[in-house]
Amino acid sequence: MKEVEIIFPARHNPSDNDIVAACEKSLRVRPGTIISHEVRKRSLDARSGEIKYRYRVNVALKGEAPIEPYRLLPFRNVKEADPVIIVGCGPAGLFAALKLLQLGLKPIVLERGKDVHQRKFDMAKLSKEQKVNPNSNYCFGEGGAGTFSDGKLYTRSTKKGDIREILNLFVHFGADPAILIESHAHIGSDKLPRVIENMRNSIIEHGGQVHFNSHVVDFIQTPAGWNAVVEEVNLPDENTRENLSGRKIYSAKNIILATGHSARDIYELFHSKGWTIEPKGFAIGVRVEHPQSLINNIQYHGKYQPYLPTAEYSLVTQVDGRGVFSFCMCPGGILVPAATSEGEMVLNGMSNSMRNSKWANAGVVVQVNPEDVPEYEKHGPLQVLRFQQDVEKKMYQFSNSIKAPAQRMEDFSRGVISKDLPCSSYKPGTISAPLHELLPPFVAQRLQKAFPEFNKKMRGYFTNKALLLAIESRTSSPVRIPRDKDTLQHLTLPGIYPCGEGAGYAGGIVSSAMDGINCAMKIYENK
Ligand SMILES: Cc1cc2nc3c(=O)[nH]c(=O)nc-3n(C[C@H](O)[C@H](O)[C@H](O)COP(=O)(O)OP(=O)(O)OC[C@H]3O[C@@H](n4cnc5c(N)ncnc54)[C@H](O)[C@@H]3O)c2cc1C
Repeated sequence: MKEVEIIFPARHNPSDNDIVAACEKSLRVRPGTIISHEVRKRSLDARSGEIKYRYRVNVALKGEAPIEPYRLLPFRNVKEADPVIIVGCGPAGLFAALKLLQLGLKPIVLERGKDVHQRKFDMAKLSKEQKVNPNSNYCFGEGGAGTFSDGKLYTRSTKKGDIREILNLFVHFGADPAILIESHAHIGSDKLPRVIENMRNSIIEHGGQVHFNSHVVDFIQTPAGWNAVVEEVNLPDENTRENLSGRKIYSAKNIILATGHSARDIYELFHSKGWTIEPKGFAIGVRVEHPQSLINNIQYHGKYQPYLPTAEYSLVTQVDGRGVFSFCMCPGGILVPAATSEGEMVLNGMSNSMRNSKWANAGVVVQVNPEDVPEYEKHGPLQVLRFQQDVEKKMYQFSNSIKAPAQRMEDFSRGVISKDLPCSSYKPGTISAPLHELLPPFVAQRLQKAFPEFNKKMRGYFTNKALLLAIESRTSSPVRIPRDKDTLQHLTLPGIYPCGEGAGYAGGIVSSAMDGINCAMKIYENK
């Protein structure tokens, strides 16, 4: 087998025959010499000259074994198998459940939020009525924080697992096969819910269980393993709660704890029980929104055409010894309120598969380490979490609503309040604010210097047409739930597998999914 790189102009969508012919030409072999091929990657090159796609293709020639397509392991019927409790139905929990099915163990998924369709109503209500349902929102519910997102599927943590397995599972459950080859693959919020629903149906069809509206509020160690104590939530009214017999208990030898970075009550629970957790650095800053046409113009050097993908960017610089970087960029996306409780202001971004809104948004954030917030040291392992909560509250209090405090980019860097604000995709609305004073000083000062620096890499980026909105604060978990690096079990709680972003071992959809798979495999190995 050989790997060949071939190039086609971006305006040309080559057929399989075109790809094979180009590979044969590149290898200088006769037509018909290639007996099978597989496109491994496709990446856009807009650096200079004509905009083109580079294809990396594996080919097998006559006399060689043909290239075998990637095959997923089959899912087994696990109705009568040993149960494993999974708390959280985000990417970490879902992919752990799918791996357990392949390994012949029975996943019991407990999720505090609603199923993906019911969840949509709560999110619409949030934008309209500005009321957060603490159990059903942009972070909580089936599919976790990644369901109503941009659905970007690239990661730097390729060493943690096999990204092909994750992408092939997404395709198996209905995602566009193009994600298997795009270097910057994404699914989109309009397509993800169906894919997630198909995953859930498969878990149930194979004998696993998925329980929604099931908020895990405690863990109790037993001679046989663990009990997860569940309180039913999202009940139609309080009378229904009174009619219930009380809390439900689910038992298993092992629990995968995949509750995500916003499950603050889980950190509080661990802290109150004296179970080991640690403060962890995370990043905080603003969401930046530009007109997408401006970003297209910069990235394609004025040569943007509708057949090209909506332009993205990724920026990083050092300011006063600390990294300032763009995070979770959503081309053609919108800004959404991502708080999980009343009285908090939190922003995030999402896009549909077409990435066709008028706006480009991205987090631009500064790394915060525990030593940056010594005044919170008294909170022990919750030190950075308390800082995060205070900043979110402060932003909420400024507008006394989920209207986002906002400032034009150049005004922010100069330290002047914006007289007016450009139109934004953020539905709950914006309110002019002195973000240069509202943000923690070590964050504001670095951001003020970073934006003109970014302009050196992307000319036109530093402009008053761009709006900064606060606050982007849920970039990763501010707490780590530490685990043994070999067994993946909690340091002092055998049978508890801290997993995914909430435990501090992943960031993003793909790496959380990989971590879920790794925890499931460890449970099988440790059986
Ligand atoms: C709006 C938005 C856009 C994003 N866009 C992208 C993107 O494009 N690409 C990308 O890679 N990443 C993106 N992310 C980040 C990504 O979603 C997360 O990194 C990923 O979802 C983390 O996976 P997880 O399974 O570890 O946790 P989560 O997805 O956070 O899932 C945790 C689940 O646990 C449940 N839970 C919490 N506590 C309990 C409890 N006590 N009992 C029962 N259930 C509980 C929650 O309801 C939730 O469903 C985005 C996030 C948001 C909010």
